Amino acid sequence: METNQQQEHVHLLIIGSGPAGYTAAIYAARANLKPVLYQGIQPGGQLTITTEVENYPGYPEGIQGPEMMVDFEKQATRMGADIRFGLATSVDFSSQPYKITIDESKVMTADAVIIATGASAKWLGLPSEQRLNGSGVSACAVCDGFFFRGKDVVIVGAGDTAAEEALYLSKMCTNVHMVVRRHEMRASMIMQDRVLKTTNIMVHWNSETLEVLGDKKVEAVKLLNNKTQVETEIPVSAFFVAIGHQPNSDIFKDALELDEQGYIKTVPGSSRTSLEGVFACGDVQDKIYRQAVTAAGSGCMAALDAERYLSAKEHQQ
Ligand code: NDP
Repeated sequence: METNQQQEHVHLLIIGSGPAGYTAAIYAARANLKPVLYQGIQPGGQLTITTEVENYPGYPEGIQGPEMMVDFEKQATRMGADIRFGLATSVDFSSQPYKITIDESKVMTADAVIIATGASAKWLGLPSEQRLNGSGVSACAVCDGFFFRGKDVVIVGAGDTAAEEALYLSKMCTNVHMVVRRHEMRASMIMQDRVLKTTNIMVHWNSETLEVLGDKKVEAVKLLNNKTQVETEIPVSAFFVAIGHQPNSDIFKDALELDEQGYIKTVPGSSRTSLEGVFACGDVQDKIYRQAVTAAGSGCMAALDAERYLSAKEHQQ
């Protein structure tokens, strides 16, 4: 190890600061594990780029995503968790205690690690998509669909997520325009079947989004049919993107077992990864549910699993 690196040892290190990481910190702090949590590049995680959250139990009037994450952080701090700004840039899990490098300089060693680094939604990369993000552009139909009930909306994508979200939207929106870039969908046959049988979902095959139109909010979308080269403009109130998520698991790929899409594998019904003493929770290990409340629940599981692990380890010594 280089001599100019600072080093610090902690009992439990938590990486990531969405609902999963903060919940793990609350439980671990209450169990007297003195957790240190590094927040990562986007403190609060994906909820800090959403607007109103109406489906998290305990907030009858709803709450703004960023505000909710400030509350989570405050609660973790009040319980005694040490919350720090910093990004885990590499890990060395080859021997215990595990080593985690923060901001490429400080080395933390830990008896147990909870990974809660989340996932990031993929975007098309259009300037108009970025400009209207949060003003009708969203990567989460379950979070934001409700705000567009009775309206026409677009959803881009053709995987299981897009199909599931199109069906979800079809129950509250007047018309759902599903934009599929090829002549077929990637989604499972059963999901495709349901989409195609839903009368208020219009599938636009071989279609690409050229631009999301609107000044302060989404007003229409401009599509290009890549077979006929015909451009069309469809008036809509929202533009949902469901082209996949990228789990933030890059730094763990040589240390832990990941699935083919990069999600950290956990033992079903637990937060245990392929390495003892390393636990994973939230979206970095969940490609199915991806909700704040499920992430928080899995953060609780990770803290309880870590507590049991550390206590068993102490008794062995
Ligand atoms: P997928 O990677 O499966 O699908 C992404 C979709 O987005 C594809 O149809 C792809 O098109 C399209 N796409 C990608 N980039 C672009 C782009 N730039 N422009 C337009 N379209 C684009 O992601 P999902 O999130 O749908 O699913 C991830 C995993 O989770 C899958 O394994 C899925 O089966 C699983 N899942 C399971 C569920 C369940 O079992 N209930 C629910 C949700 C997800 P193309 O096909 O042309 O590449």
